[in-house]
Amino acid sequence: MTYSERVLENVKMKNPNEPEFIQAVTEVLTTLSPVFSAEKKWEENRILERIVEPERIIIFRVPWINDKGEIEVNRGIRVQYNSAIGPYKGGLRFHPSVNLSILKFLGFEQVFKNSLTTLPMGGGKGGSDFDPKGKSDNEVMRFCQSFMTELFRHVGENVDIPAGDIGVGAREVGYLFGQYKRIRNSFDSVLTGKGLTFGGSLARPEATGYGLLYITKELLNSKNMDLKEMRVCISGSGNVAIFACEKAIKLGAKVVTMSDSNGFIVDEEGIDLDVIKDIKLKKRGRIKEYVDVKKNAVYKEGKGVWNVPCDVALPCATQNELNLEDAKALVKNGVKAVLEGANMPTTLDATKYLMENKVYFVPGKASNAGGVAVSGLEMTQNAIRRSWTFEDVDKELENIMKSIFNATIKAQERFSLKDDFVSGANIAGFIKVGEAMIAQGAV
Ligand code: GLU
Repeated sequence: MTYSERVLENVKMKNPNEPEFIQAVTEVLTTLSPVFSAEKKWEENRILERIVEPERIIIFRVPWINDKGEIEVNRGIRVQYNSAIGPYKGGLRFHPSVNLSILKFLGFEQVFKNSLTTLPMGGGKGGSDFDPKGKSDNEVMRFCQSFMTELFRHVGENVDIPAGDIGVGAREVGYLFGQYKRIRNSFDSVLTGKGLTFGGSLARPEATGYGLLYITKELLNSKNMDLKEMRVCISGSGNVAIFACEKAIKLGAKVVTMSDSNGFIVDEEGIDLDVIKDIKLKKRGRIKEYVDVKKNAVYKEGKGVWNVPCDVALPCATQNELNLEDAKALVKNGVKAVLEGANMPTTLDATKYLMENKVYFVPGKASNAGGVAVSGLEMTQNAIRRSWTFEDVDKELENIMKSIFNATIKAQERFSLKDDFVSGANIAGFIKVGEAMIAQGAV
């Protein structure tokens, strides 16, 4: 057995009830073998054994009072995964599906993603099984205040800087920040994705989606293709999907789908983003309302968005939303590239199938890194007490996405792995973190 295989076996044995975590570790470890064959220092320093184990996990009770005056209880978790290259950094997810396996997979991914951004950020992730859907603003506020009443003692601008993820947007970050500041009596840059009036960065809401399109453009251009006139299928209708759609349209593509957990819409004339923004950002409604306004579009219940023919597929909803059957449908319909906007939306067998069938596949840790990258820029702006213009942040974001693309290409070239963007991203992300860990000794 190779070094990676041995460590992977051990991870599986130690974490038998954590399928998403095992999936994320499998994807990374199976691609790192060339690095370990080339140099013995990684194994001698037990880098893999250390990198798969979170530095710290905090699990806590979150009691709160609903609008009927009853007490409700949720579970809060923060996974502080790796601080080798900077303080822990990563979002908070509020969704009923949240559990330790999901937050460990997300934290593990975040370590490599943050490393790829070129900014000094370690990796972490957190959240709760609280479901903001259907809750009043007051209920969300009381939940966030209770969540922060425990979390405040574990975070800090040089310790751990949370942000948003699924179910956590500007509203939640605002309530969390207010409570942190009240308890600490200190205006710290302890969260990113803040409102513009209290230290947030312009272009942060757009960053993940825009970044995804910047790297899509890089990839296609490097293969002598152009987004113009291409058919793009996007899944999801949250922050990532909406701004991916916006930038895709700006770059001349035709976006024909979007979805939510109930179903998906197909608009052969191209998605009208104003209608989507009104439904999702203003009314917090459901995607099916789109066809009430756009009579030519169709809505279908359930999964199936990947059966719609497209040149470029951008899964922007959630983990494991694109499985082997979906991958087969995409290939049959002639898809050229799949780039992940969500974290690990593609199953392992689907990824393998796409790559075997010569579809360019870029993993989330490279292609969705734009969000956390602009979070890093928000921290910089807070530190120097300045706010940059939208254009400045956007330009910096585009440069970071280009440098991520180039880093994955360089890693591919170094180990003769042409067009393997999964290995390229994992290797490039890993080496920086691993080097820092070796330099800091057995900690
Ligand atoms: N939740 C986002 C991600 O998956 C952003 C995290 C952040 O801005 O810290 O990368």
